[in-house]
Amino acid sequence: MATYDFDLFTIGAGSGGVRASRMAATFGAKTVVAEERYLGGTCVNVGCIPKKLLVYASEFGEGFSDAAGFGWNLGPRQLDWKTLIANKDREIHRLNGVYRRLLTEAGATILEGRATLVDAHTVSINGRQYTAKYILVATGSWPVVPEVPGSNHAITSNEAFFLEQRPERVMLVGGGYIAVEFAGIFHGMGSHVTLVHRGAKLLRGFDEDLRETLGNEMSKRGIDLHLSCNVTRIEKAAGGLHAHLDSGETVNADIIMYATGRAPHTHGLGLEKAGVRMDDQGAIVVDPYSQSSVAHIYAIGDCTNRIMLTPVAIAEGRAVAETLFNHRPMRVDYSGVPSAVFSQPNLGTVGLTEGEARERFGEVAIYKSTFRPLKHTLSGRDEMTFMKLVIDKNTDRVVGCHMIGADAGEIIQGLAVALKCNATKAQFDATIGIHPTAAEEFVTMRSSS
Ligand SMILES: Cc1cc2nc3c(=O)[nH]c(=O)nc-3n(C[C@H](O)[C@H](O)[C@H](O)COP(=O)(O)OP(=O)(O)OC[C@H]3O[C@@H](n4cnc5c(N)ncnc54)[C@H](O)[C@@H]3O)c2cc1C
Repeated sequence: MATYDFDLFTIGAGSGGVRASRMAATFGAKTVVAEERYLGGTCVNVGCIPKKLLVYASEFGEGFSDAAGFGWNLGPRQLDWKTLIANKDREIHRLNGVYRRLLTEAGATILEGRATLVDAHTVSINGRQYTAKYILVATGSWPVVPEVPGSNHAITSNEAFFLEQRPERVMLVGGGYIAVEFAGIFHGMGSHVTLVHRGAKLLRGFDEDLRETLGNEMSKRGIDLHLSCNVTRIEKAAGGLHAHLDSGETVNADIIMYATGRAPHTHGLGLEKAGVRMDDQGAIVVDPYSQSSVAHIYAIGDCTNRIMLTPVAIAEGRAVAETLFNHRPMRVDYSGVPSAVFSQPNLGTVGLTEGEARERFGEVAIYKSTFRPLKHTLSGRDEMTFMKLVIDKNTDRVVGCHMIGADAGEIIQGLAVALKCNATKAQFDATIGIHPTAAEEFVTMRSSS
């Protein structure tokens, strides 16, 4: 029987790679994980965590204004950008240490450097080669910037977390969740924000009502939306950057950030040499057990381009470890994956959009509610909360829950459990609400269309 240096060689210590490696080591597998950049991957270093910290920071702006309606008299306020970024960096550094400890305490070896595949059982890193019975590719994704003249002057989310100072004028390109979240972040911190998006609405793939409402709410706040519009050229001049749009307009900005999608981070990994099949986007093609076209090479997370979210990468990592090292073949259930967008206001969603449900079930009942949240009756803030339930009429099952408003992600997480349990509208109706909350509206909606 062939002998190998390791049972498992994981490439990439991000959300998926860390979970798989920790669990494999806990199950007794001799495990090594290679990381070229930062322990914890995108989520911890340049994704979910620092982003949410910046969202919190930016929400204080409106919070201070809201406070006046409650009798608070606040003096002049000023954001110290350097303190914010330094505090954020300190927390990320602490998390890097937590990830290191979690891996080493589980018994996994960490190798710092860029790993590449040599053949189907061999990985090269830092000038050395290691063999492994199984190789797990968990290399994540990378921002894609379209080739537009001058787009080399633009940044991506990778750099946005480390700006030296708060930009006065920001232009975002893109209409996905990263673009709208950063629009809220910069706007909340006092920058003038312009968002340019080629589509007619933001957040493709989300329920149409949410897309519409978010666009309205962002405009109301003063974010300058340029929809159905493309950047044709960017110029750098003494006064900053000038972006020319195909509408004939020019946007002047200090920072231009592209958030126009992410591609699997698989280039130059040596996958072709090992015989691993990829699709035309560079995503590793895998089966429901995350097994690639080469039997002992697995791939998880963003590099497989299934659902690019941290909890999904973690679930895939766990499933691979259970399958290979705990005699428990496991596959991830991709139905009803909830998600949130930390735009301002927040947005949360689980299940099918109205359009998808109509296509799948034909007859659907739609319950909607739009209201001014209690808090804003005194704060005076002009912000509406919107909620929507999508019901399959034949079975009475709730197949979609959508919300835009404060804490939408927190609320939808609970409802995702109800949808996993195939809850019906009658069961929602039989649930007593918690008063006074916004969430109670989800169990008190009575008239459908
Ligand atoms: C701005 C932003 C905000 C986000 N917000 C959210 C959110 O709110 N909620 C959510 O669920 N998801 C969010 N995501 C998505 C989430 O971060 C990813 O889905 C998740 O990190 C994917 O995990 P992964 O393990 O596939 O890859 P990653 O976490 O990206 O980890 C891959 C790791 O592999 C390393 N690597 C790559 N190639 C090599 C190599 N050859 N050798 C050694 N190491 C290598 C990389 O350095 C990286 O550390 C966000 C992403 C971004 C960019």
